[in-house]
Amino acid sequence: MWKPRVAIAGAVAVILVVVLGITVTHIGAEASPYELPWAAGELHSVLQGNSRFDDANQCISGCSTHNDDSMRFAFDFDLPEGTPVLAARAGTVALANGSWPGDHCVSAAEAEDGGSVVLGNETNFVEIDHGDGTSALYLHLSEVSASIERKAKTGEPVEQGEVLGLSGKTGFTQCVPHLHFQVQGSVRADWFTTSLPASFADHDVIARTTDGVPVEGQSYDSDNVPIAESR
Ligand SMILES: [Zn+2]
Repeated sequence: MWKPRVAIAGAVAVILVVVLGITVTHIGAEASPYELPWAAGELHSVLQGNSRFDDANQCISGCSTHNDDSMRFAFDFDLPEGTPVLAARAGTVALANGSWPGDHCVSAAEAEDGGSVVLGNETNFVEIDHGDGTSALYLHLSEVSASIERKAKTGEPVEQGEVLGLSGKTGFTQCVPHLHFQVQGSVRADWFTTSLPASFADHDVIARTTDGVPVEGQSYDSDNVPIAESR
């Protein structure tokens, strides 16, 4: 009676080894701790990607505002105003500011006039510290979640997929709603530091870019938490 069981156990073991082996071969960009910062099933495009130049040194991505060291690895995602912004990775709240009204922004005309009184730092944002020397910056929000404002004081953990706030256009945005996202080095009491390379584990990203880095002009479906389950 026990021999068939051994045979079955052996077959299960072989199947497990095969499945695990297949899984392991696909680990790469999928091992990234980041998932796109919006709810599963939503499709949003990359308005401006990482700063990139072609062989002739012509700017081909991130050419508008991301072509300096502080924002070289930033992404501007096309999130309409009021879209829930989800934590791309777990951590704790390093800094958060939701004090600006949702319409506190610089229009394109004002920016051209140079007559703007709104500085780049007059923006609602959340910075999540990952505890490994890196943080993620979520910029231009219309509002910051009350739970995140509280956790900024208490130090309670923030889970991946938690709603950090709602997207918006506050700050230096030309009043175009979007989410500026960048991973950056953690510097105590400094919410805007130097951006670092970041890739995403979402299947839709990996399916089109093996390095897991979303490409300017493309739209991506998120593997992050569905909005009903996000907190
Ligand atoms: Zn940006």
